Amino acid sequence: MLGEGEHELEEGLSRLSNYLVERTGNVGYYYDLDEGKLKKYELENWKYPSNYFIKVVPQTDKIRFSWNDCKESGDHLVCVGAKKSTHEKLSINIPLDIVDEVKKKYTKKGQVELFLEPPRRNIDISIGKRKGTCAICSTEDYLVKGKQWMYPFLVDPSKFGNFYSHSKGMVNLCPRCALAGLAAYTKWIYVIEGKDYLHFFMFHSDLRTLKDLYEGMLKPIFLENEGNRRRNFSLKFSGKYVHETTMGLILTLFERLKTQEGVDRDIAQMFSDFIEESRGELHLFVASGKLGNAFNMSNLVEFSKFNALYRLYNLWIDAVKNIFEDAKPLKIIPGVFLQFKVKIGDRWETLIRDKICWKVLEFDDPLPHIEEYLYDPKGSQLRAGTLHIFEVYAKEVLNVEEKHIKMLAAFGHEIGKASAEKRSMDVLYSMRNAKNLDEFLRVLNDINFKLGLTVNEDLLKIDKDRILGVPWVRIKILLSIYAMNTYLLITKGGGK
Ligand SMILES: [Zn+2]
Repeated sequence: MLGEGEHELEEGLSRLSNYLVERTGNVGYYYDLDEGKLKKYELENWKYPSNYFIKVVPQTDKIRFSWNDCKESGDHLVCVGAKKSTHEKLSINIPLDIVDEVKKKYTKKGQVELFLEPPRRNIDISIGKRKGTCAICSTEDYLVKGKQWMYPFLVDPSKFGNFYSHSKGMVNLCPRCALAGLAAYTKWIYVIEGKDYLHFFMFHSDLRTLKDLYEGMLKPIFLENEGNRRRNFSLKFSGKYVHETTMGLILTLFERLKTQEGVDRDIAQMFSDFIEESRGELHLFVASGKLGNAFNMSNLVEFSKFNALYRLYNLWIDAVKNIFEDAKPLKIIPGVFLQFKVKIGDRWETLIRDKICWKVLEFDDPLPHIEEYLYDPKGSQLRAGTLHIFEVYAKEVLNVEEKHIKMLAAFGHEIGKASAEKRSMDVLYSMRNAKNLDEFLRVLNDINFKLGLTVNEDLLKIDKDRILGVPWVRIKILLSIYAMNTYLLITKGGGK
C-alpha cells in the first residue's frame, strides 16, 4: 500500500484510516456554528467487518442541550445549550420541520447531543518516550501501547497468553508493527454468517512472497460486490466450522494454481513451483469465532503443510481424471469433500465434513469419520471419486499398501453385495461396532458362515494388534467403508 522505503507514520495512518472507512448510506445532522445552521453529512463507520475490531470513535466536539431549554421563534426552534468540551454557552436554531427527526435520532435520557462538525474516523498512534523491545518483531524502538484495533488477537491477552508469553498483560509494539496490524484488515479474506460465525484468513510469509500472493492470486479473485456482507471471496465450500472452510479456501487456491484462470499467470506458475518445491515458508492463519458487539474468538488454526497437501492434490487429480468420460478432476475433488453433510430439519449440518477436513489438514486419519458418515441413517453412498481420493490418502499418508487396498476393496464389495442380496445389515453393523481385534476376527468368521464368503488368509495373519502391517482398526474401517458403500449403492442407488 505504501511501497518500499521510509514513510511518515502520520501519512501511513491517515491513508490506512481512509481506506478502512466506509460510508454507511445513512445521513446525520451536525450543527455548523459558522453558518449558524444544521447541516447534513453522510455517516461513516469502519469498513465491515473490521468495525467489530476497531472501536475507535471520533472525538468530535458536541453541543448538549435539553428540549426544555428550547423556544419557538418563527419557523425555528431556538435551543440554548453548552459546548461539551468547554461548557461555553451556545444557542442554535433547528427548523421546525426537522425537529421530530432530530428528537428521534439524538435524544438520550432527555438530553440532546449534536456534533459541531462532521465526525471523521481517525486513528492516532501515540509513541512512548522510552525505547524497548517490540513484542512482535523484537526490534528496539520507541514503543506504542498495543490496542485491540492493531491486532485482533489482543482482544483478550490473558486468553492467548501463549502468543505474547513474554509480555505480562501489556503488549508494546514498535510503530511499524502497530501500522502493519492495522494494514492487515485490508487484506483479510472473511466468511460470515450473521451472529453465528466469522472466519477470517491471513497468510504469512516473507514480504515479497506475500505481496506476490496478494497482488497476483488473491486480489484478482476477491469478490467485487462490496455489498456482499457474508464473504469477500468465493470459496469451493464453506460452513460453520473452521477446518471445512479452510479446506474450501485451500482447494479454491489450488484450483487457481492449476487453471491460472482470472489470476496472474506468471505468479500462479511461480506459486505452483514455490509450493511444489517447498521453496519457502507459507503459513495460513485462520481465526474463527462469533460476532457480538465485538469478536469472540473460539479457534485459531495454523496451516503450513501446503507442499504436502499440494502433492496429494496432484495425486488426486491423477487418480480421478479417468473415472468416467470427460471427468473433471478440479470439480470432482472439492465435490468429494463437499458431500459430507447431513440434513437436519431444513438445514445442512456439516460437522462431519469439518472432522474429515480437519484430519486431512493434519495428515491424520479421516477414515473413521467417513465410516461414521456412511453408517449415519442420514448419510448416503459416496460420490464418484471419493474412494479414489481416500485410497490415495490411505496409501500415501496412512501407509496402507496399494495391493492390500485393492484386496480390501474387492472383499468389501463382496460383503456389501452379499448383505444387500440378503437384505441384512447384521454383518455390516457388527463389523462397524467391532471394538477390538477379537471382535473383528469374530466378524470375519461370521462373514464366512452367514454370507458364505471366503476370507482372504492374509487378513487372518495377525502380528500383535496389526493386520497387513497396519493397526487392525484401519483394516476394519476400510473394509467396513467398502462394504457399506456397496450395500448403499445397491439398495439405495439403483444398483451398479
Ligand atoms: Zn515490531
